[in-house]
Amino acid sequence: MQITRNFSLVEFRRSWRAEKLGLDNTPPPEAEACIVALCEKILQPVRDHFGLAVFVDSGYRCAALNDAVGGAKNSQHLRGEAADIRVNAVPAREVAEWIGNSSLPFDQVIFERKLDGTEWVHVSHSPLPRRQALQAAFDHNGKPVYAPLFMAEAEAAA
Ligand SMILES: [Zn+2]
Repeated sequence: MQITRNFSLVEFRRSWRAEKLGLDNTPPPEAEACIVALCEKILQPVRDHFGLAVFVDSGYRCAALNDAVGGAKNSQHLRGEAADIRVNAVPAREVAEWIGNSSLPFDQVIFERKLDGTEWVHVSHSPLPRRQALQAAFDHNGKPVYAPLFMAEAEAAA
């Protein structure tokens, strides 16, 4: 099922981990509706702005898949509200900052970075967007340490 010009439902369902574990990661109708909104309101505008391919590394997660990847208990991935994305050839921080400065109705945008240098952007949409912009660095135990994405906010909070 094609959702918008550049996004289809299969990108949000497929997961090598789910396949390996034999999990059926098909989103229920209510999650599918959230995925459609995420594509229409956030991901397609991001794709249109950069004009480059957007890869969905993790979209919808059924409960068993979310447990398997160590996702947060109340992760928005469980509801089809969030996706982990990379934009081809664009640093993840730049993508996160563009979203954070945009007028898009994002709920959370998080620039995420692992110790091995792997980077991606977690972005979510919900009916009442909080427009929260964060960065997360994973420590040696794989636990994310959160900080504001923009320095001005960090200074204001200090
Ligand atoms: Zn995520």
